[in-house]
Amino acid sequence: MADPKGFLTTQRDLPQRRPVPVRLRDWREVYEEQPARETAAQAGRCMDCGIPFCHSGCPLGNLIPEWNDLVWRGDWAEASERLHATNNFPEFTGRLCPAPCETACVLAIDPSTTSGAVTIKQVEVSIADRAVVGGRLVPLPPDRLSGRTVAVIGSGPAGLAAAQQLTRAGHTVVVFERADAVGGLLRYGIPEFKLEKAHLDRRLAQMRAEGTKFRVNVEVGVDITGQVLRERYDAVVLATGATAWRDLTVPGRELAGVLQAMEYLPHANRAVSDPAYQVPVSAAGRHVVIIGGGDTGADCLGTALRQGAASVHQLEILPHPPQERPGHQPWPTYPMVYRVSSAHEEGGERVYAVSTKRFVGDETGRVRALELVEVELVDGQFREVPGSERELAADLVLLAMGFLGPQRGPLLDQLGVRLDERGLIARDAGFATNVPGVFVAGDAGRGQSLIVWAIAEGRSAAAAVDRWLSGDTQLPAPVTPAMRPLAV
Ligand SMILES: Cc1cc2nc3c(=O)[nH]c(=O)nc-3n(C[C@H](O)[C@H](O)[C@H](O)COP(=O)(O)OP(=O)(O)OC[C@H]3O[C@@H](n4cnc5c(N)ncnc54)[C@H](O)[C@@H]3O)c2cc1C
Ligand code: SF4
Repeated sequence: MADPKGFLTTQRDLPQRRPVPVRLRDWREVYEEQPARETAAQAGRCMDCGIPFCHSGCPLGNLIPEWNDLVWRGDWAEASERLHATNNFPEFTGRLCPAPCETACVLAIDPSTTSGAVTIKQVEVSIADRAVVGGRLVPLPPDRLSGRTVAVIGSGPAGLAAAQQLTRAGHTVVVFERADAVGGLLRYGIPEFKLEKAHLDRRLAQMRAEGTKFRVNVEVGVDITGQVLRERYDAVVLATGATAWRDLTVPGRELAGVLQAMEYLPHANRAVSDPAYQVPVSAAGRHVVIIGGGDTGADCLGTALRQGAASVHQLEILPHPPQERPGHQPWPTYPMVYRVSSAHEEGGERVYAVSTKRFVGDETGRVRALELVEVELVDGQFREVPGSERELAADLVLLAMGFLGPQRGPLLDQLGVRLDERGLIARDAGFATNVPGVFVAGDAGRGQSLIVWAIAEGRSAAAAVDRWLSGDTQLPAPVTPAMRPLAV
C-alpha cells in the first residue's frame, strides 16, 4: 500500500493549466508538468483497497494500485515496467482518456467527494513521461522471428497496439495507412493542444526500431487489393476505424460553410506540423457553430478559438447534464455529468436542449444562420417546444455528431467480410471475421469508442492472431469483443 494515511492527509490536486490567454496563442498542451514529489503525494492517496474497482473501470486492466505504490516510493523505473505491462501507449491514455478508472475509484464513492478520486490518469502520464526522460523508452525487439507475416490496415491506436504486440511476438508486421502520416485519429483528429505529436512520433520511432514497418499513402482496396494482401500475408488485421460520419440532413445542408468536423480538424492539425500548409477552411473572424456536445465538438471549439473565431457556440440536443452523479448512474459506473474540458475553459458558449431545423443561406450560397428550436426529452423522444424557434448567426458550421461505423467501400467488398446489424465489421469471440485469417480491432468492430478501448482491442486481437499463426500465445487479451464499459 502507498501512504497509509495519504487519502486522509492529502487533497486531490492536478497540475496547473497554462493561463487561457497564453495557451490560446499557441497549440501546445494545456497542462504544465507536475513536480515528481507532488505526483508521488497524489499516488500516495491510493488506499490499495483490496478489491481495486479502478481495474474494472480500465479496459486495459492497468495495475493501478501497484504503480501508485511504486510512484509513492519513488521507484519510477519499476512503475514504468508495471504500467507498460498492460498498456502499450500510456502517454496517449494519460493525456486523452476520460479516465473511467477514476469514477470507479473507491475514493469517489460518495457523490459529494467525486473529485476525491486518486488522480490516476495524471500519475499514468507522469510515469510515461518520466520513462522518456529517464531513457526507459527503449525498443524491445523479439529474440527471434517466427517467419510469419501480418498486414495491419489502419494506424490508429488499435492498429498500432496490435502491430507492436505482434512484432514483439516475432512476427513480421507491416502497417498500411491511407493518410500521409501514421497515427489515425491521434494524428489528424485529436488536436495538438490535447496531444503534442512529438509523443506519437517518439512511440513510432520505438516501434520502427523494434521492426514494425509502416507504409503510408496506401489505401487498401484502391492502391492494393484486399485479396493481394491476403495472398502476401499470413494474417490481416482490419483496424480501419469508424470513420463514416453521421450527417444532419436538414434543409440548407448543401450551403457553403457547413462542414463535417473531420473536414476541418485534420487541416488544422496538418498546419501545426507544417507551418507552410495553408488550411482550406479557417475559423478566423467567423461566427462558428458546432453541432454536437462531445469530445469532437470540444476539439473543434479549442481549434476555432486558436484560429481566432469571432464567436463560437456549441449546440447539444440533450438537456444540461447534472453537476453531480445522478442516482440512476451509481458508483462505479461512468456518469453523465457536466464536464468542463480545457477547450470549454477557453471560451465559447454551450447551448443545451436545442435542435437545428434548417441552415439559412445568404445570396452567395453561404450559410449565414441556423434556425434552432428548443426540445424536451419526453419518454425518450425529443419534442419541439412550440414557439421556441430562433435564428443563430453562423458563417461556419461544424457537424460533430458522431460516427456510424467503418466506411463502406472496395476493401470490405474485396475481402468479403460480413457486417453486423449495426454496420460494424462482425467478429467472433476471438476477433476473427468470417474470412479465415482476417481479424478486426478497434472502432471498426466496436463502433465509435475511446483510445483506451482501441488499445485494449489491439492487444486482444494480437493475441488471437498470434494463436492463429502459432497455435498458442503468451500475449495478454484484456478485453473480449462483447465487453462493454461498466454500466447499470
Ligand atoms: C476529433 C476526435 C477526438 C477524439 N478525442 C478522443 C479523446 O480525447 N479521448 C479518447 O479516448 N478518444 C477520443 N476520440 C476517439 C478515438 O480517437 C477513437 O476511438 C480511436 O482513435 C479509434 O482507434 P482505431 O485505431 O480503431 O481507429 P482510428 O484512430 O480511426 O484509425 C483508423 C485508421 O485507419 C485508416 N484507414 C481506414 N481505411 C483504410 C484503408 N482502406 N487503407 C488504409 N488505411 C485505412 C484511417 O486513415 C485511420 O488512420 C476522438 C475521436 C475524434 C474523431
Ligand atoms: S487508461 Fe484510462 S481508464 Fe485506464 S488507468 Fe489510464 S486513465 Fe484510467
